[in-house]
Amino acid sequence: MRRIVIVGNGMAGSRLVAMLRARAPSADLAMTVFGAEPGRPYNRLLLSNVLAGVADPEQIGLLDPAWYRQNGVDARLGVEVTAIDRSRKIVRAADGGETAYDTLVLATGSAPIVPPLPGLRPMAPGVVAFRTVDDCRAILRGARRARTAVVVGGGLLGLEAARGLAGRGLAVTVVHLADHLMERQLDPEAGGVLARTLDRLGIQVRVATQLTGVLTETAAAQSPDAGGLEPAAGGPEPAAGEPEPAAGERVRGVQLAGGTVLDADLVVLACGIRPEVGLARAAGLTIERGVVVDDRLATLDDPDIHAIGECAQHRGTVYGLVAPAWEQAAVLADLLTGADGRARYTGSRQVTRLKAASVELAAMGDTAATDDDAEVVRFADPTRGTYKKIVVRDDRLVGAILLGETSTAGTLSQLYDRAAPLPADRLGLLFGGLAAGATTVASDPAGAPETATVCHCNNVTKAAVRACWDAGARTTGDIAEHTRATTGCGGCHADIGAILTWLGRRQTAPSPA
Ligand SMILES: Cc1cc2nc3c(=O)[nH]c(=O)nc-3n(C[C@H](O)[C@H](O)[C@H](O)COP(=O)(O)OP(=O)(O)OC[C@H]3O[C@@H](n4cnc5c(N)ncnc54)[C@H](O)[C@@H]3O)c2cc1C
Repeated sequence: MRRIVIVGNGMAGSRLVAMLRARAPSADLAMTVFGAEPGRPYNRLLLSNVLAGVADPEQIGLLDPAWYRQNGVDARLGVEVTAIDRSRKIVRAADGGETAYDTLVLATGSAPIVPPLPGLRPMAPGVVAFRTVDDCRAILRGARRARTAVVVGGGLLGLEAARGLAGRGLAVTVVHLADHLMERQLDPEAGGVLARTLDRLGIQVRVATQLTGVLTETAAAQSPDAGGLEPAAGGPEPAAGEPEPAAGERVRGVQLAGGTVLDADLVVLACGIRPEVGLARAAGLTIERGVVVDDRLATLDDPDIHAIGECAQHRGTVYGLVAPAWEQAAVLADLLTGADGRARYTGSRQVTRLKAASVELAAMGDTAATDDDAEVVRFADPTRGTYKKIVVRDDRLVGAILLGETSTAGTLSQLYDRAAPLPADRLGLLFGGLAAGATTVASDPAGAPETATVCHCNNVTKAAVRACWDAGARTTGDIAEHTRATTGCGGCHADIGAILTWLGRRQTAPSPA
């Protein structure tokens, strides 16, 4: 019997475990999975929804302990792997145990970057780096007693955190080092429009601004308004039995380059992530930004060790989104079980959507092109918070930004995913209803092509949803069970619903004869 050990039980590791078991029974494949975080794995994407108050931590769990038992998987939850001994083919864990493997998979994800600044090493009470469910709980505890928050980092994660905190009634300032928000996904003009939108929602944005330190209670005790605080309006009540923070233990503000001080009762760090490669490095595996893997997701130095998810670097890219991690898990499950020995991972196209109430934003590909070969079509209405742009090369969509109004996001991501030739009516691609030959799944499920990707996190097409229907699936839950659509960021619920409604109507409609 083959022994597979998986280190990391997050989004990639837990998905791999489920996919391996779906392809191979326990008689053929013994599996052990280590997860440093206590408890069952959970959907990390939905932590933003927990912060925003639209989901509970209890609702975002993935595989539960009973599943592991029923499927013969040895799940070591809350146990960190501390070393890999490649010569003996064992991993050593923090509990002192040694576990032998034939195949080892690293799915250790990333750790938040914490700048080496005063107040951050060690982290002052009231400062939280946002990555795990425990971080989320700590932020919620802090938010109960806070009136003002500073979010450090104006990327996707920082803005989702800022919106969630503003929705809970806190006065929020985002401090961002780069010249504009979400600089990896947006061009400067879109970043500016987004900052104005956030301002209207009560979130102040300071770009090109460097944090130089976090002020603790001693430093800010000199501040005239460092008095007692009331909980923020609309914030959740403290949980019964939860200890009140001791007086004088709260963060009081942040300091910026140039000396400006911003008051803050809560500081959330979202300054970027760094792949967790410590184990792999110590084991002598090739590391660049992540653990370098080939198209079989095997490390360059050891064919029995693989890496997937945010800790892996494939063809020079380290991905920070769930869809690539899950595509990698599917390829590796095929290879390790022999379900498809020719499966190869060749890279993923990245589509980003912001999950923040009252801020519609979708971005994909290369949006900052300025070269002569790029055809750029743009529309900006900053006072209404609208900015739309497509970048076209060789008649193919290579990048897009939709901000403020995203009705054509589905169409654009289909065209981007498939690298399909674009309709001549470029403007129609920016504004819903005008796009010649291109339809959105939600607005026209019948007209959308069968190959249209409905769920980007799980790479599920309209054809796959229809195949489920033909096999008897009737609800979104049925579709999720068969295809996993809707189980990632959840942004495709409306599309799946629209397809099901359309298929239902087709079934009940009288035949033309
Ligand atoms: C709040 C938030 C919102 C997000 N929203 C989106 C979104 O909308 N769309 C999107 O595509 N992506 C989003 N992401 C990113 C997405 O969550 C990640 O890309 C995804 O989780 C990567 O999966 P992973 O398994 O590689 O890493 P993780 O999910 O981080 O899992 C890694 C796991 O490995 C464990 N581990 C590490 N080292 C060890 C060890 N030595 N021993 C045992 N266990 C170990 C860690 O504790 C962790 O549980 C979001 C992330 C956050 C934090």
